[in-house]
Amino acid sequence: MINAKGTFTPLGVSRSSDGVADAVAQALPEFFVMTELGDRVSETIAQVTGAQAGAVVHCTAAGITLAVAATMAGADPRRIASLPDATDMHNRVVMPACHVVDYGHSNLQAIRLSGAQVDLAGDETRCTIDDLEAELDGPDVCCLMLVSSRLTSGPPIDLVAAIRAAHRRGVPAIIDGAAQFPRVADLLATGADLVLISGQKYLASPTAGLVAGTWPLVQAVRAQEKGIGRTMKPTKEAVIGVIAALEEWQALDRMKWEADELAKVSEFAEAAAKIPGVTATVVPDPAGLQISRAVLTVPNAHDVATQLEAGNPSIYVMTDRLADDQLVLELVPLTQDEVDVILARLWSLLT
Ligand SMILES: *Cc1c(COP(=O)(O)O)cnc(C)c1O
Repeated sequence: MINAKGTFTPLGVSRSSDGVADAVAQALPEFFVMTELGDRVSETIAQVTGAQAGAVVHCTAAGITLAVAATMAGADPRRIASLPDATDMHNRVVMPACHVVDYGHSNLQAIRLSGAQVDLAGDETRCTIDDLEAELDGPDVCCLMLVSSRLTSGPPIDLVAAIRAAHRRGVPAIIDGAAQFPRVADLLATGADLVLISGQKYLASPTAGLVAGTWPLVQAVRAQEKGIGRTMKPTKEAVIGVIAALEEWQALDRMKWEADELAKVSEFAEAAAKIPGVTATVVPDPAGLQISRAVLTVPNAHDVATQLEAGNPSIYVMTDRLADDQLVLELVPLTQDEVDVILARLWSLLT
């Protein structure tokens, strides 16, 4: 199959490099002192992101649960053991209503799994800083949860102002930036106490939730492994794969990478626009990620998407704009051969 749908969990999310695959293969037959491995990946995450410390948990959904747990229980063993019973703790999470997203389940459930309750600010169409301040005024608030994603609705929230409002009340702020790895430094620069990233999305490591942030809160996240975090722990091969992927990222010429990706999408759009009846544009990521996607307007887009999937190899594209007869394609992990296969299939389906 060819995945032009982006970092999509039901399709295996991303492609790791040969270097990351080798590091993982070498890790599997070995033993490790896992706390030492945890310290080592903390240093690497800190070096690459600029955060004070970092941790790896199973995935970002687990990271949401454990980050909230960390703000409620800290590193206190008694509290850690009693979660998800959070009755004697500050246990209310404030979140903009327009940041409720469904990445396979609702992020509200990832929060509630820790034992916390969610207070939604604003509504699905917008949330102002005043809306947030009203909810942050409550007595039992443990953290502010913000989501940076193309899945959120309404006008973007000023993250810096939102986090300042939380900090004025002594409330820590967490940003879920699961699919925002290339922007992790920007997200930390907002003042967020923790930023959560899926390693398996744009970092292309094995499945892993990276937690980057302040020293005490990251230690509190790690401490949850003696509690509800037991079911969300990272594997040794995931931690080794994350370290390898972060080291590759650090060595990468990012300007060249971004220019090459843009050239790939532009050339694809230009070639697709030659198919009779097709218009093609290149659109930047709406959340500010430094990647672009191709948008093809085609007759009967719904049928075209169905036929692309039914063919051999199966071709998957983003389908959230089918109502406007638009197919959206993300090409980041694809080889030139795969891009050519997509073009050939479009020609044969549309002419
Ligand atoms: C993908 C995603 C998640 C879930 O990440 P996993 O690592 O698959 O658990 C959470 N939040 C957002 C915004 C996502 O895009």
